[in-house]
Amino acid sequence: MVAEIISVGTELLLGNTVNTNAAYLAEQCARLGICVYYQSVVGDNEERLTETIRLALSRSDVVFLGGGLGPTEDDLTKETAAKLFSHELVEDEHTKRRIAAYFERIGKEATENNWKQALVPEQAIILDNENGSAPGLIMEEGKKTLILLPGPPMEMIPMFESSVFPYLSDRVGEVILSKVLKICGIGESSVEQELRDLIHETDNPTIATYAKTGEVTVRVTARAKTESEAKRLIKPYVRQMKCRFGKNIYSTDENAQLEDVVVGLMRQQNLTLTTVESCTGGLLAGRLVNVPGVSDIFKQGYVTYSNKAKRKLVGVKKDTLAANGAVSEKTAREMAKGALLRTGSDMAVSITGIAGPEGGTQEKPVGLVYIACSLKGKVTVRKCQFFGSRKKIRECSVSAALVLMRDCILENFEL
Ligand code: ATP
Repeated sequence: MVAEIISVGTELLLGNTVNTNAAYLAEQCARLGICVYYQSVVGDNEERLTETIRLALSRSDVVFLGGGLGPTEDDLTKETAAKLFSHELVEDEHTKRRIAAYFERIGKEATENNWKQALVPEQAIILDNENGSAPGLIMEEGKKTLILLPGPPMEMIPMFESSVFPYLSDRVGEVILSKVLKICGIGESSVEQELRDLIHETDNPTIATYAKTGEVTVRVTARAKTESEAKRLIKPYVRQMKCRFGKNIYSTDENAQLEDVVVGLMRQQNLTLTTVESCTGGLLAGRLVNVPGVSDIFKQGYVTYSNKAKRKLVGVKKDTLAANGAVSEKTAREMAKGALLRTGSDMAVSITGIAGPEGGTQEKPVGLVYIACSLKGKVTVRKCQFFGSRKKIRECSVSAALVLMRDCILENFEL
């Protein structure tokens, strides 16, 4: 099966909105074993949209149309698609009731033009929108299918997961099963290098890697007639990867985040934590607080941005700062030790670095970050060199701190 993605919206053409929906849909098609040969972006213009859909239908079985399902004048995806298939728009009672319930739930009054969203092409399959007013639509005409989805990702993604994925999976006529391995402490290119032979060896299951700041996800996806057959195909590859990446695999749960796993390990060992942050300014504490109920382990977070704060709040020595500077192994070490001493936590983590864009020197360039972890009387310090924007450097520092915490716990408790 061949699919094509058309993203509709002038704001996408102008670059005001980054087209993350197309990336998501392409990734999902790969997961389903559907080929995508073309993607396009078209503004809110009926003539150009018609032309684009027509071309897409001439070369693909399934065409996704994302965006332009809103209530305003310039939202014309549904009208254009219906005209092309000569399907009449009729009012759908179920959608009308759902829109009314949606507005009641969010405590807002539906405007006159919101009811336009209850008009649907007569033969269409309607996809309920749990997070917005516009329904998604599947329109079939002969062997061709149009799938219309709302623009906002928080509406589109849940709709895809709950309705479109099962629909396409049925059409493909196979069970599609995937398993993920979440890896930290190794870069994407090294992971890919390590997997190159396996990636080339098999096209069922397929093996794909995706990089996120400081971590890599490997997805192994199999297509088969039955679920047990798909599992059988996946198993040897997952086993191989577990051998190759060992402790670098921090989870095989699709929804687990690195901070969930680190907090889980700390709970398991009854460890309490203090953070001391300089260049990340509380970003590590913020990420840890993403985990519900983290207050049982996370005692305190210091933001010691200035030298004075480093001295006053966690007792970094004046001489250390004068001789080594704030961004140094010794300062990171004293930050972690001082925090541990002052709070009585079992573990303390510190981050100090140069996030840029200013402030770098030849000796200490932008992106140089020291991270220290003090646990069971031992302080481990890691020197890291990150690249990219200030935001990227700060995010990488937080991920590296989580990785260091995990490594120290695994090492100390021989897990
Ligand atoms: P609405 O009912 O909100 O008007 P819609 O289906 O008409 O939804 P659009 O008006 O095209 O969708 O887009 C609404 C918002 O959704 C955009 O302002 C943008 O923030 C986001 N959005 C739209 N298309 C994309 C896309 N391809 N990738 C990421 N975000 C998108």
